[in-house]
Amino acid sequence: MFGSMGLPSPFGPMGVEGIEQMLSGFGLAVDGLGGMTYEDLLDRFGDGSVDNSCSQSTIDSIPIVPLTEALASGKNCVICLEDFEEGSKAKKLGCGHYFHPECIDRWLKISGTCPMCKEVVRGREEEGGEGGEGAGAGGGEGGEA
Ligand SMILES: [Zn+2]
Ligand SMILES: [Zn+2]
Repeated sequence: MFGSMGLPSPFGPMGVEGIEQMLSGFGLAVDGLGGMTYEDLLDRFGDGSVDNSCSQSTIDSIPIVPLTEALASGKNCVICLEDFEEGSKAKKLGCGHYFHPECIDRWLKISGTCPMCKEVVRGREEEGGEGGEGAGAGGGEGGEA
């Protein structure tokens, strides 16, 4: 099949670049995945066995809050060690600690715990679900904890 002189191979003149262009024409991101190693893919998508880093959706669900004077004064981001600036934004973890959004994003992709208190960071959807159904609707007050 290779020795057919005179007959052009279907991919011969195009080369790999041509094939990639053709595939990306169908919406396949060949370039995006082509250079990735298996570790890269695991890092990006996870396989369920690594649980010490946060998923992107968890990171995205961390609220960004403006730093008031009270929040910013005398405090700094322990990741980059820069002082917080009043009026700038910070991400507030569930434990109540604040960090620069870009700093904590990078941190959480490596370690899914608060750098200050080591509390495990969870996304909103992991904490209480959608919250669609009212807890104890029709029941009593439920004052007992
Ligand atoms: Zn920072
Ligand atoms: Zn914390």
